Amino acid sequence: MERVIVIGSGPAGLTAAVYAARANLRPLVLAGGLYGGQLMLTTEVENYPGFPEGIMGPDLMIRFREQAERFGARIENVDATAVEFTKLPFTVRTADETHQARTVIVATGASARWLEIPGEARLRGRGVSTCATCDGAFFREKHIVVIGGGDSAMEEALFLTRFGRRVTVIHRRGSLRASKIMAERAHSNPKIDFMWNTVAEEVYGDTHMKGLRLRNVNDGSDFDFDADALFIAIGHTPNTGIFKGQLDLDETGYINSPDGTSTNIDGIFVAGDVNDLRYKQAITAAGAGCRAAMDAEKYLEALEFAMAMEPPVAQLLTQE
Ligand code: NAP
Repeated sequence: MERVIVIGSGPAGLTAAVYAARANLRPLVLAGGLYGGQLMLTTEVENYPGFPEGIMGPDLMIRFREQAERFGARIENVDATAVEFTKLPFTVRTADETHQARTVIVATGASARWLEIPGEARLRGRGVSTCATCDGAFFREKHIVVIGGGDSAMEEALFLTRFGRRVTVIHRRGSLRASKIMAERAHSNPKIDFMWNTVAEEVYGDTHMKGLRLRNVNDGSDFDFDADALFIAIGHTPNTGIFKGQLDLDETGYINSPDGTSTNIDGIFVAGDVNDLRYKQAITAAGAGCRAAMDAEKYLEALEFAMAMEPPVAQLLTQE
């Protein structure tokens, strides 16, 4: 029986692991086949406090991992494939094993949506990105393209005007999905221009992005468009598939949490992008992981105290 299982190994999961391990809970971390979360896909991280020279995303995650292991976290590079949270103890399955736990911290993150067009994967980190906060500063005085028409796209475009000499927002329809205030801010920024009813078919460049092949959806015409960087802001998908039907999710699939760590099931906690529509930063995820681990520790303390009582309070509580 595990006292704490952490599902996920981005900044939220591994910070939860550090705190749970330092509380002597020997957490089991199901890190996923591709451990480390979204930072494994970024290049340099310049805004994580404590690294004034910046640090490469994967290097940062290796440090998180080493720190958790140093205090006794057991980290397995396997995916959680199914959970049973409706009865105690909680069950978490992987392809080969079934684990039981008194508490679980869900930190499975969210994945940025990609366009899935030719060139995009190859040029990732070489001009193509899904995170302006992470990568915008690399494109000073450059021409930057943002794809998307929602609040995220407006936010990214506005942020990128600090660096780029010109920011072009390309949207597949003729009107924005973004809120009025964000749309107005973007429209009134002299560095931002819009290209409507247009979709990207390909990103090209050798060692670095050079431009996009675009298509006007109204007349079907194709054309090339020079640009130095592409930021894709077409939404995120929270990684909550295995929790459907057990944890309360909002209409977009994010886990509902009234206070940022608890869920609709006592003993199941949540941290990081999987319930964060708003900030989506490594540092906010790490903070959430810390809070979830501290709350899990408190919950466990009360649970284990109750279980140790004679006659067992837990049993009394469950009697009709
Ligand atoms: P979103 O509102 O779902 O917008 C996604 C945008 O991407 C839409 O304009 C959509 O086009 C476009 N899109 C989706 N798939 C595409 C594809 N394959 N190719 C081209 N375009 C595609 O997502 P979001 O902007 O990330 O926002 C998510 C939530 O967070 C929203 O509720 C938003 O209000 C909130 N948010 C708020 C703030 C803020 O208030 N500061 C900042 C960021 C996010 P269509 O319009 O045609 O569907």
